[in-house]
Amino acid sequence: ALTDTLGEVRGFVFLDTSMASVDNVAARNVRNAYAILLGIIFVIALLLVRQAKVVDYAVLYRKLKDVDQMKDDFVSMAAHELRTPLSVIKGYLSMISPERLTDTDKEGISRVNISVENLNSLVGDILDVVKMDQGRIRFDMKEIDVSDIVAEVADSLQSLAKEKNLTLSFVRSSISHIYADPVRLKQALINIVGNAIKYTPQGNVSVMATEEGERVSIRVRDTGIGISAEDQRKLFGKFLRIRSKETEDIRGTGLGLWITAQIVSGMNGKISVESIKGKGSDFILSFPVATP
Ligand code: ADP
Repeated sequence: ALTDTLGEVRGFVFLDTSMASVDNVAARNVRNAYAILLGIIFVIALLLVRQAKVVDYAVLYRKLKDVDQMKDDFVSMAAHELRTPLSVIKGYLSMISPERLTDTDKEGISRVNISVENLNSLVGDILDVVKMDQGRIRFDMKEIDVSDIVAEVADSLQSLAKEKNLTLSFVRSSISHIYADPVRLKQALINIVGNAIKYTPQGNVSVMATEEGERVSIRVRDTGIGISAEDQRKLFGKFLRIRSKETEDIRGTGLGLWITAQIVSGMNGKISVESIKGKGSDFILSFPVATP
């Protein structure tokens, strides 16, 4: 009963709640609490599992890095070990005087010489790849005249071109100096000009050094087998070799262009290719002009 201040009954409030409905409300709240608790436990378990996986991945990553390092160390050690017997063979080869040899012997010695040179450059490439992968390659940058290096490279590859009846030409022009490591630039050019000779069955290879804007470009042009647009896109990848009828008899490792691209970009340069399959290719190396 609701009474006023004088005690008179003014109205009534009817309560229609039994203990059963109180129990129901309580039970519902307990169920909700359990659901929330289960949810929290599930989320915590999920986080723990993920955390364990992250730890697993970290351990796996460290192990993989160790194995990778071991592989690099082994390859590098094996390549260095190969260098020693190679230099002994080279040394003895140079001591053989050709006057006393028959033509057959001379031919044999020349073949051994070529094989030794090939093996030597393969060993050099392997050592370079390991160095580049580990970021250990250093460039001894100097102000240089590109024409001097190109002339040296053209001279050294002249006999290789002649063996294939190709003409290899370089016309000297006066251009600005660039900053580069002369030894590494020479290595890059030997790869590019060497490839031009290797992948050109007939015709010619020409090298041009030009200056445009603030850049010096070296263009190596051949009239060889050419490269399709699709192959050009992946050309500078490690171990990439284009497999086709024209290349099946040509040996190589697919490392030369990758190494060349690393060298060029390490010296602030750019490398690109323009080619038409069946017609020939242009490889272009460009570097900023050295500012005084
Ligand atoms: P390798 O010559 O040892 O195979 P490279 O990395 O020097 O390796 O070259 C990768 C591939 O690019 C070669 O296998 C060849 O198919 C292609 N290539 C390179 N230079 C030329 C070129 N001047 N003309 C046609 N194809 C070329």
